[in-house]
Amino acid sequence: MRTAVYPGSFDPVTLGHLDIIGRASLLFSKLIVAVSVNPTKNPLFSPEERVEMLKEVLMPYPNVEVDLFNGLTVHYAIEHKAKAIVRGLRVISDFENEFRMALTNKKLACHLETVFLMTRAEYSFISSTTVKEIASFGGSVRALVPPLVEQRLKEKMREK
Ligand code: ADP
Repeated sequence: MRTAVYPGSFDPVTLGHLDIIGRASLLFSKLIVAVSVNPTKNPLFSPEERVEMLKEVLMPYPNVEVDLFNGLTVHYAIEHKAKAIVRGLRVISDFENEFRMALTNKKLACHLETVFLMTRAEYSFISSTTVKEIASFGGSVRALVPPLVEQRLKEKMREK
């Protein structure tokens, strides 16, 4: 079994994330989308809400699982016998951070590889932060997220 872990905040999941998940699911026999519980990031959605949305939109992918995790990605990956950590690369600005993280993870667990998938051009500008900003000002995020997430964002903004 060739397992990989795709870690992230997914606050909320976007079409950019979904594209990476779809493509990574073809490369590995099992892909675990691991939602990080990182309170320092002050997320809009609770970890449970993020997991619930991911589970719903990832139903068509039989070899993709969704889970919550706390702590270091490498520890989670080793625990789940993963061979690789998947990350998406958007623009050049992602590179420095991702490079630092991949080198650090290699130091911590030398047998684990980080696999980078380059974003599709049409999704390269999408980030969860941009999506939240647009939604907070009442703009349409239809072209950026799955319909379920658009709905959840509307509900969240009404609650505020
Ligand atoms: P994190 O807080 O760990 O960066 P994110 O949820 O923002 O979590 O992103 C998770 C991963 O998905 C990261 O590797 C990020 O670069 C990648 N990613 C985010 N948006 C896109 C996109 N539009 N296209 C490709 N990869 C993306």
